[in-house]
Amino acid sequence: MRAAFYQGARTFTTGEMATPTPGPQEALLRVRRVGICGTDLHIFQGHLDHRVPKGGVIGHETFGEIVEAPGASGFTRGDRVVVEPVVFCGSCRACRMGASYLCYQLKVLGVDLPGGMREYWAVNTTRLLRVPDSITDEHAALIEPLAVAVHDVARADVKRGDAVLIFGGGPIGTLIALVARHRGARVAVVEVNPFRLDILKAFGLERVGPGTDVVAWAEQWTDGTGVDVAFEVTGNPAAARAVADVVRVWGTVSIVAIHAEPVPVNLYQMFARELVMHGSRLYARADWEEAIRLVASGAVPVAPLVSRRIPLESLQRGMEEALGGGPVMKVLVEV
Ligand SMILES: [Zn+2]
Ligand SMILES: [Zn+2]
Repeated sequence: MRAAFYQGARTFTTGEMATPTPGPQEALLRVRRVGICGTDLHIFQGHLDHRVPKGGVIGHETFGEIVEAPGASGFTRGDRVVVEPVVFCGSCRACRMGASYLCYQLKVLGVDLPGGMREYWAVNTTRLLRVPDSITDEHAALIEPLAVAVHDVARADVKRGDAVLIFGGGPIGTLIALVARHRGARVAVVEVNPFRLDILKAFGLERVGPGTDVVAWAEQWTDGTGVDVAFEVTGNPAAARAVADVVRVWGTVSIVAIHAEPVPVNLYQMFARELVMHGSRLYARADWEEAIRLVASGAVPVAPLVSRRIPLESLQRGMEEALGGGPVMKVLVEV
C-alpha cells in the first residue's frame, strides 16, 4: 500500500509499505481523507524533529472506513469513523484529573506515533468515533479541528451575549468564531490574509483587517469596556503583545496558538484588570461528540473552509504552498 513518509525538514516522499495487520484491540481502516494543519506545517519545517522520527507517517486529522474490526468492539466493516489521535497512560495525575489529553506520557498519533497519511491504518478501537451518514467524507475530515474549537470555546466559558475577539482567521480561529457565534456570542476575527478575509466574509463573520488599530477597535466595539474573551490563534508575537490589551475587567485571554519561543505579554493589564489567562490544547472525548453533533446538525457550516484537495503524492507541494501563506485555508489529502 502507499504511504507518505517524513524524511526530515522540508521533505516528504511517497512510497510503499506493508499493509498493517490489526492487533486484537485494533480495527483496520481504509483511510479516505486527512487534513493538513498548522502542527503538520511545524513538522514539515523540522520544528518537531524531537517528536517525529525520520521515515515517520504523519496525519492526525483522519477520516476513514472500517475494513475489519474485533467482534466485541461494536464496530463493523463499512462503518465510517474519525480517529481521536491521543494515546494516554490513564493513571498519571493529569489522567486521574480528567485531562487525559494532557497526559504526562501523552503520545499523539501522527506526531509521536505513526498517523493516517497512508491507505490502510490499524487503530485501537477505543480511539474511534462513528460518523453519521448525514456527514459527507469531506466534512468528516473537519471534525478534528472542530473538536479543538469546541474545546477552546468551552474552556474559555464563552456565554450568550459575550463579545469575543479572535486573533487569527485560519481554520482553528475561524472554527472558534463559528462555535462561539453558535453559542450566542458576538464575534470578530483579526486577520491579514486577503484570501482568509474573503472566507470569513462568506461565513458572515465580522472582520478586523490589516492596518487597523486592534486595541482601539475592540474598545470602540465594546463601548470602551473591552471584550469578554480574546483568543490568540496566530502564533505571532505582535498578537500576543496585544491580546491582554483588548479584554475587559475580569475578562479571559485564551492562548490556543503554539508559541515555540517566549514572547512579551502585557502583564500590567493582566494585573490592572484582574484578567484570567489560560492555555487551550487538543480536546476531550466530549468535545469530539459535540463536534460531530454540530456538523451533523449543520449548526456549524464547515464546507467553505476546504480550499484545496490534493492526492497523497502531492503532500510535499501541498505543504510548501500552505507555508507560502497564499490563498490557502484547509487542505485535505484524498487518499
Ligand atoms: Zn491539527
Ligand atoms: Zn496519563
